Amino acid sequence: MLVKGVVFYLESDLPPDAKLLLEDFRLAVNNAIRAGLQARVTSRNALNKLAYKDFRREHPRMYAQHLVSAFEVAGSALKIHRKRFRKGATGRIPFVKRLMMKAENQAYKLDRKSGIIDLPIRAGCHVELRLIVSQYHRKYLDDMALSLGSLTVLPDRVIVAFRKDAPKPYSPDSVISLDTNERSLDGVFVEGDVGKAIKAEFPEVAIIQQRHHDRRKRLQRKKAHDRRTSRNLCRREGAREHRRIDYRLHQVADSVLKFAEERKSAIVLEDLKGIKSNRSKELNRRLSMWPRRKLHQIIEYKAQWKRVPVIKVNPKNSSRTCPICGRIQDSRMGAEFECECGWRLDRHINASINLLQTAISKGMAGGLRFNPGAFQHDVMMILYDPMTGARSEPNGTSGIVGVT
Ligand SMILES: [Zn+2]
Repeated sequence: MLVKGVVFYLESDLPPDAKLLLEDFRLAVNNAIRAGLQARVTSRNALNKLAYKDFRREHPRMYAQHLVSAFEVAGSALKIHRKRFRKGATGRIPFVKRLMMKAENQAYKLDRKSGIIDLPIRAGCHVELRLIVSQYHRKYLDDMALSLGSLTVLPDRVIVAFRKDAPKPYSPDSVISLDTNERSLDGVFVEGDVGKAIKAEFPEVAIIQQRHHDRRKRLQRKKAHDRRTSRNLCRREGAREHRRIDYRLHQVADSVLKFAEERKSAIVLEDLKGIKSNRSKELNRRLSMWPRRKLHQIIEYKAQWKRVPVIKVNPKNSSRTCPICGRIQDSRMGAEFECECGWRLDRHINASINLLQTAISKGMAGGLRFNPGAFQHDVMMILYDPMTGARSEPNGTSGIVGVT
């Protein structure tokens, strides 16, 4: 099941009744969290049993469905808390600070033509929320293949979840295999018998990471006497860093998918699960792993919507193997991979060919075949160029595709 949350702003302020509902909902969530912590339970049903009666007594007329979904929100907050606690993080009691409420799809009505939400508050009291509908929103509202999921109401906007069954991926005519590096995706595009090098560069991501890492270090030093301020400032710094990096990764992913969609390609990626950067204990190294994982997440998620098949393969030895003769080189090499058999290629592109070979040998690439000997050494296709990306509009679709 694919879920996409779409943000709608409201034509006017939230009605007073709805504001009260948000406050009651928050109260219910926070009460349930406390009750759940005391009784050591996290499931919605258990929380329901614990907290329903008490809350019912205090808010006799609140719509029952909302109460149940408050317990669900509480349950997920508790789960996150448990997980953190197990990892040994300092356990502050979680609570919901923002005014919010969540309604499951049977607890509200959205008229998809007019963009009006009918939200029950309590027996005999409903409010109407008028959404501002743009062309972007129409795409989701008018697509009847999408069903409505939950509704999240915030003081100034609502988020509607649209759901659809994941469509079956198409059967590919070509394949792109990508080796994921700190500053770029490097790989090979294979169509017919021909293989060409492809590249999508994102050098800014590492630079942003480094800059924010330095800034956080400086903050910690400067505010060493005040841990609370230091923590808050660092957290804000971290959120800013994530936003800036996310934005760039989305652009890269969009370009890769556009390229794949136009050529009906499958995408081969290395499975990054379980890979630890044990080369050095330096913080920089450890930090540099998450943008790569995040990039894969974004590519996989977008690929599902666009029916692009994604194949994940174990990257073991992919950077050390010769795709022609199969020798495994034991030492780390420079920018070029070199083999006794005479094969020479950019180290990253060589790795991507090995990933592709793994996918093919495991039968994961459909009927596609590739002979590394047919690789064209003199061609490079650019999927994403940060110089164009930086100048483009922030609505995605920015990658240039061409032969240089
Ligand atoms: Zn060789």
